[in-house]
Amino acid sequence: MTGPTETTRRGVYLRDGYRCAACAAVEGLSFQHRRAVGMGGSKLVPSPVDGLTLCLVCNEACERELQDRALAYGWKVRKWVTSPDRVPVYFPHEFSWYRFEGMLRVRISSAVAMEMGCAVYGDEWMKWRAHALFGGMR
Ligand SMILES: [Zn+2]
Repeated sequence: MTGPTETTRRGVYLRDGYRCAACAAVEGLSFQHRRAVGMGGSKLVPSPVDGLTLCLVCNEACERELQDRALAYGWKVRKWVTSPDRVPVYFPHEFSWYRFEGMLRVRISSAVAMEMGCAVYGDEWMKWRAHALFGGMR
């Protein structure tokens, strides 16, 4: 995937409050691609709903030890999910779920988030959530 345009990057940072969505850091921010980039990459320029503000440390961790949590919290979405806006996003430092509408984030209840996640992933999502919420990440 090619990089986001400068407008998209700034819009995503603004939408997410200029903080890392995972740890609330305000420094070293990066544009996280929510959809995994395939081997061949994609020529599609990421839209705001494809992106999330993460610090470099968390961005890196999402590919490794935080993978289950990143999926459960919508920081990452599976490659085959064609509309990342259907996957809700959790901001732990705000204790809030959101759905993304372009450069806006709309606060939703955890019940709605549950419905959205299940609609996309089914049981798999429940499994990630159980791991993310109750520890035992592996
Ligand atoms: Zn972070």
